[in-house]
Amino acid sequence: MKNGAVLTVNDLRVYYDTPAGTVKAVDGVSFDLRPGERLGLVGESGSGKSTMALALMRMHKPPARIAGGEVLLDGVGDVMELDDEGLRRIRLDRLALVPQGAMNSLNPVMRIRDQLADGIRTHEPGDDRDALTARIRAQLARVGLDADVGGKFPHELSGGMKQRVAIAIGTSLSPSVIIADEPTSALDVVVQRQVMETLRSVQEEIGASVLIVGHDMGLMAQIADRMGVMYAGKLVELAPVHDLFTNPQHPYTRLLIESVPTLMAKRALASIPGAPPTLINVPPGCPFHPRCPRAFEPCDSEVPLPMSQNGRVVSCHLYPEEAA
Ligand code: SF4
Repeated sequence: MKNGAVLTVNDLRVYYDTPAGTVKAVDGVSFDLRPGERLGLVGESGSGKSTMALALMRMHKPPARIAGGEVLLDGVGDVMELDDEGLRRIRLDRLALVPQGAMNSLNPVMRIRDQLADGIRTHEPGDDRDALTARIRAQLARVGLDADVGGKFPHELSGGMKQRVAIAIGTSLSPSVIIADEPTSALDVVVQRQVMETLRSVQEEIGASVLIVGHDMGLMAQIADRMGVMYAGKLVELAPVHDLFTNPQHPYTRLLIESVPTLMAKRALASIPGAPPTLINVPPGCPFHPRCPRAFEPCDSEVPLPMSQNGRVVSCHLYPEEAA
């Protein structure tokens, strides 16, 4: 694998065919995920980040389709080329999803312990009843839940507890890669922080790499090692978190950071003018050019290519020298 990455995404394209035309929800995204790394992926609603998270596991639903690219999982190969049995084997075991909105992803008529046992029994059928019970208790404890939670139904749990259960299920087989799709959406800010901390501690304990998709840059900055910014289906900047916040290079990244509220700086909150484009009608050239305060002559006609330097990737005509 390239650079020892556990997951390498090359030129991934996910399109929706609709009566009104083709929606390019993910349009040529490339990045790699390193061993033990926490990579955050942020963007406004409709930027394609959740579509991409599901597509990495081939869990996208029609009319979405993979229009191109590859997703190389260490020791497995291209996930896009696996047959149904190959997908069944790697899901949960090697590549696991922590979904957004745990209230909708848990089975409402199954006790928590049975939902945890389901994946373990399917992938590792050797455990007897006592061993399975011990594993479920240990897994609940790992995410900070008491053993008696195993006997409850989802509706008996708070939103934060349900999201911890989703983390417990997603990490029950110690996968090498966790895809966490907006794992704290619909939770209050205190619980968001606690759930993120739980995700971090479990990920570190099992030595997994994690791709966390979200829209809250402040929350993401507290957990991610590197952060990518998506706009209109493209990854426009990717950098170590500290570098991204102290020296953002893409104008969209700059504006996103300026719109994050802080307790320290007394200033008016900035907002980004305009609205993201509908992905069925993306502007020509750089898709951000109608909103960009630094747009200049080539921006409305030429698509900027990704420029890679010092561990950072940025796609913007302001950085043309080493475009490749
Ligand atoms: Fe702005 Fe042009 Fe850079 Fe796009 S390519 S972000 S329009 S300066």
